[in-house]
Amino acid sequence: MAKKFDIEVFNKWCKGCGLCIAICPKKVLELSEQVKSTPVRPDDCIGCRQCENVCPDMAITIKERD
Ligand code: SF4
Ligand code: SF4
Repeated sequence: MAKKFDIEVFNKWCKGCGLCIAICPKKVLELSEQVKSTPVRPDDCIGCRQCENVCPDMAITIKERD
């Protein structure tokens, strides 16, 4: 079975720049009405961590699900 991942966005640190949304190859993230990055398709996440690495404010953490 394919691995699954949890995407945690620390809203206080997210400034809504959209870099993580632009880089995600699986279109997992979208901006919420509060202009925060939000995982809308978490089951599609492949754990590449590009969002985590690109975020200038270190607001995203990717964790493999148990
Ligand atoms: S890259 Fe970071 S600050 Fe920018 S929208 Fe994504 S989580 Fe928020
Ligand atoms: S780890 Fe990769 S696939 Fe998952 S949300 Fe981040 S950029 Fe998208």
